[in-house]
Amino acid sequence: MIPSTAGPPVFVISPHYDDGVLSLGGLLAGLGARATLVTVFGGAPAGPREPSAWDLRCGFADPARAARARALEDERACRLLGVARIALPLPDNPYEEPGATLDELSAFLGSGSVPGATVLVCAGIGNEDHARVRAAVLHRRRTAAETLLYADLPYAASHPAWGTPEAGALVAAGLLAADPGARATTWCPRGCWARHWSSGGHGPTCRRRCGSR
Ligand SMILES: [Zn+2]
Repeated sequence: MIPSTAGPPVFVISPHYDDGVLSLGGLLAGLGARATLVTVFGGAPAGPREPSAWDLRCGFADPARAARARALEDERACRLLGVARIALPLPDNPYEEPGATLDELSAFLGSGSVPGATVLVCAGIGNEDHARVRAAVLHRRRTAAETLLYADLPYAASHPAWGTPEAGALVAAGLLAADPGARATTWCPRGCWARHWSSGGHGPTCRRRCGSR
């Protein structure tokens, strides 16, 4: 997609607050006011909850405060990029109620804003929430004029199949997101972004980067 401020509206569907900006920051800046960043899991948990391991690692003891801080960060990022923003009220994965659906996303896709627009959604690489969002958007893809997939960063950067000649066909078939290699890996708990096998502790890359063993 060629970034241009002229043309029909573009909606970038971001599962979490960082995904759209990390993956498509340059494109968003080029599209400017034509683009709207739609964050799916953009809400706080309903009622008081224990903080998730991720929130604790990020320095938050209160999940509602973490959600507010991320929303403010998103507002600043969208202002810098010159794009509009929408945050759907769904809480992030650790705070979802059992059996939770993505009805709010389906309702947005069925709203009057989307016909005639281009919708960009993540390919769903390396993260189950991303794969759910991709599935929901592709299910309603006829509501948009055009629906395109973007590579999820940073996950795609370390996925063994991404960048291979077969990657495009795997994404088109919805198989890259379900690659068993992606499920067998996890991120360094110290947050150095190295990938290592979940059964084997820290790998050589991780030892080089953060010294963990
Ligand atoms: Zn994400």
